[in-house]
Amino acid sequence: MKRLFYIFTILLLLLLGGCAPENQKTPPPEAGKLPVVVSFHAMGELAHAIGGDKVDIHMIIPEGEEPHGFQPKSSDLTALSQARIFIINGCGLETWADKAVEAAGNEQLAVVTASDGADIHYVEMKQILPGRKPEKQADPHVWLSLKNAKIEARNIRDAFAAADPDHADYYTQRYMEFVQKTDALYARYQLKFNTAPSRTFVTGHAAFAYLARDFGLRQLSLTNVFASGEPSARHMTELADACKAAHVQTIFVENMESPKIAETLAQETGASLESIDTLEEGDEDETYLSVMEDNLEKIYTSLQES
Ligand SMILES: [Zn+2]
Repeated sequence: MKRLFYIFTILLLLLLGGCAPENQKTPPPEAGKLPVVVSFHAMGELAHAIGGDKVDIHMIIPEGEEPHGFQPKSSDLTALSQARIFIINGCGLETWADKAVEAAGNEQLAVVTASDGADIHYVEMKQILPGRKPEKQADPHVWLSLKNAKIEARNIRDAFAAADPDHADYYTQRYMEFVQKTDALYARYQLKFNTAPSRTFVTGHAAFAYLARDFGLRQLSLTNVFASGEPSARHMTELADACKAAHVQTIFVENMESPKIAETLAQETGASLESIDTLEEGDEDETYLSVMEDNLEKIYTSLQES
């Protein structure tokens, strides 16, 4: 009863606080499967890669909505109150997660911060937001590193095995397959990028610093790592100059629906637009590895044209 009261109180607070309206009812988790809640698409793909058909995955941030600046709905708390595992990426991406877990009041719920133990890339806040102190903040896009994705997958495997020991071997088997495929993909593109004539690629928001680091590439971007704010006129000029100097022929955009600033840059530099997938929104016909392979191939192709 106490728990219900808490949920009700927090729901009320969220609603009064301008929380997004409830769109649909949360279905109960499928019987016989480990009930898992994930924060957003990339975590869902990693959870599926390890959990296969033994887990029932509820995603809090729906398809087509990006995780930067997201606020949860009341139905998401229902899912959390019924789950055994809640997977977040961490690194400050899911600022709402602590409150949501508290509101769910679910003593059985294990929260997994997938990026724990990953090799984190830090960004200088002064460079992103002028006037800020010289502090550093974690770049949240950990999953866009193939190397770090293996660590995220391992944390997920450990949590699934602990909560559902009967299927521990199944999760471990899938984890090993995932690692094998990820390593093979990495090795293949490491070879390809080593012979690429250029190393610079341009993205919408600066989501691909981890991928760039993994392969010794250089990412330039229209907007910052937190996808906040519009680029200044000065940034656009400097970016256009850098694109011309590096003979950039492709501007990558994450959401082809509103690529206005990207279009401006493309016109100014004579480059063309191409889509790239940060796995932040996603759709159902893809897997983590298929998206990463597609991204790597597109970046590789763009470097051939430079
Ligand atoms: Zn992002």
